[in-house]
Amino acid sequence: MAAVQNITVLGATGSIGVSTLDVISRHPERYRVLALSAHGQLEKLLAQCQVHRPRYAVLAEPGRLVEFKLMLASAGLTGIEVLAGMEALEYIASHPEADAVMAAIVGAAGMRPTLAAARAGKRVLLANKETLVMAGGLFMDAAREGGATLLPIDSEHNAIYQCLPQPFSDTAGQGVRKILLTASGGPFRCASAEELAVVTPAQAVKHPNWSMGRKISVDSASLMNKGLEVIEARWLFDLPPERISVVVHPQSVIHSMVEYVDGSVLAQLGNPDMRTPIAYGLAWPERIDAGVSPLDLFQIARLDFEAPDLSRFPCLALAFEALRMGGAAPAVLNAANEVAVAAFLDEQLGFTAIAQLNAASLQAVAADFDARSLDSLVAADAAARRHAQGWLRDHAH
Ligand code: NAD
Ligand code: MG
Repeated sequence: MAAVQNITVLGATGSIGVSTLDVISRHPERYRVLALSAHGQLEKLLAQCQVHRPRYAVLAEPGRLVEFKLMLASAGLTGIEVLAGMEALEYIASHPEADAVMAAIVGAAGMRPTLAAARAGKRVLLANKETLVMAGGLFMDAAREGGATLLPIDSEHNAIYQCLPQPFSDTAGQGVRKILLTASGGPFRCASAEELAVVTPAQAVKHPNWSMGRKISVDSASLMNKGLEVIEARWLFDLPPERISVVVHPQSVIHSMVEYVDGSVLAQLGNPDMRTPIAYGLAWPERIDAGVSPLDLFQIARLDFEAPDLSRFPCLALAFEALRMGGAAPAVLNAANEVAVAAFLDEQLGFTAIAQLNAASLQAVAADFDARSLDSLVAADAAARRHAQGWLRDHAH
């Protein structure tokens, strides 16, 4: 086997970051941590530094740089370079000695370092779906030009990747008819419209099958997450939206499917544990133990499927609408949604108002920008956030 691989983990203290370090620590003969990044949660980052001894620890913002250096010193940890800020994140994402980069920062904040890893031709383990939602075309170009290897970590896209012929190109006549993205339906799958209007943040972040960060958990409850994943799939697999379907499958055992022209449907199954796609991304094209317990089909006993209800979950329809609009519309939707979800978690906004705010920002802002440059997309993101903040002020409850 090849030499030990050096891994940069962006967003190490998050849900995906922690799972990544768990898989890495099971295979010390294969992987070494080169760099870790975090935003806040310094105690957790310190503990990770104690275990993994990275060469770099990077804070998203410089405010607590000195404090963290002192924490490392008083823990007797020497030889770790502490850096901060966006340039430092881009540095560890494109570092010449990094073999693979786990892109697991949450939100639009993850875009620049993920792009840096792609441009530098890394093996990019792509969890940060917002990069593709905001700047899908630019990111895929950067990955191609940089010679990067993209391994999707989002469980659905990882499943599709596993079920597609490799290398996949839609123009190569490989017989793919469509992809079927599965969705658990979230904690409110069976809630009425009246019930949805009064759900609390605590209820929304309690996902029935997956344990995840707070933002993506709210997105799963509103089906915005599935919408972002449709956009993500459009770019990753270069398929038009009409060849991407969403199937609600409450057990979250089938992680997604690919339908072929001969009638075959290939599915990837497994327990809902992100360590499976993470281990797949780390070891591809090999397979390694992920620490995930075997799937017990007898205990699961049945698999159910239903169509998504777009009237109760309009965020999913908004994502298809943003794809139809094209240009910067997905970036606008993503940014508005980040503001909406933060306001919901802060109890400033009702759950059903998330979709109202997203729709309003999409209509008001999207047409003013294009997707040809990063600057334009960043401006669209900023304009959407401003619009969303204004909407919040007008609709405060
Ligand atoms: P999380 O909130 O648990 O962790 C986010 C990480 O990003 C933390 O390390 C945090 O310190 C860091 N971070 C937060 N804000 C930052 C900023 N402004 N600048 C730099 N770093 C910042 O999130 P998560 O659930 O691990 O999700 C990470 C990404 O993976 C998201 O894009 C999410 O959509 C995607 N994803 C997650 C899951 C999952 O199961 N958790 C599944 C699929 C995709
Ligand atoms: Mg997913």
